[in-house]
Amino acid sequence: SKRGRLDQFIARRLQVSKKAVRQLLIANKVVVDGEYAKSPDLLINEFSHIICNGVVLQQYQKQYYMLNKPDDVVSATIDDKHPTALSLLVGVDHDMLHIAGRLDLHSTGLLLITNDAKWSAALMAPDNKVDKHYIVTLANPIDESYIDAFANGMYFEFEGITTLPAQLTILSTYQARVVLREGKYHQIKRMFGRFRNPVVGLHRESIGKIGLDKTLFLGQFRLLTTAEIDCVI
Ligand code: URA
Repeated sequence: SKRGRLDQFIARRLQVSKKAVRQLLIANKVVVDGEYAKSPDLLINEFSHIICNGVVLQQYQKQYYMLNKPDDVVSATIDDKHPTALSLLVGVDHDMLHIAGRLDLHSTGLLLITNDAKWSAALMAPDNKVDKHYIVTLANPIDESYIDAFANGMYFEFEGITTLPAQLTILSTYQARVVLREGKYHQIKRMFGRFRNPVVGLHRESIGKIGLDKTLFLGQFRLLTTAEIDCVI
């Protein structure tokens, strides 16, 4: 994205000198993303919200992306061992972005990334019970008895909770689709763990009405469409 210096931006927009901009900064007349800007060399981009002398020079823009997360990428903003999901948004300034609903290191598929905290909070709020669809690959054959166990919920001693009814559909000997309406820590792995059946692959297909774009290869991303953004209440 187009990054630039704050003083340059204001000088050009208001047709004033950089010295005049410095005086505005010293006088606390410039607010960037809700905070008084002090330094002329502050880096801004086309998404920054910039107010000068009470006048909005640039309106903050909300950004929404979907990423097809590959294996070995962490759902975090910083990590010293593995690449982060945000670092895969090549050409995007990701300072203000966060992940709406993480995936484990080895899980793949739909990851939503945004700077709109209200939107991600609505999507992930436990009370909203948004469906998340996963394709799960297991080490051992899947037994039909799993279906009822997932539907009935499982007691997780560590949190002292019982999981909400989850839907398990057997797709083949080693593959199932699982639909969750919540996201407890390593939930799917722990649920299959009850049957001593290790998860060897976990791929998220959708979150609510937002499905992973099938034209995205692992590691590729795109902006969400207006319809996708608007389907979150
Ligand atoms: N459940 C898991 O165990 N891992 C994920 O990444 C998502 C759901």
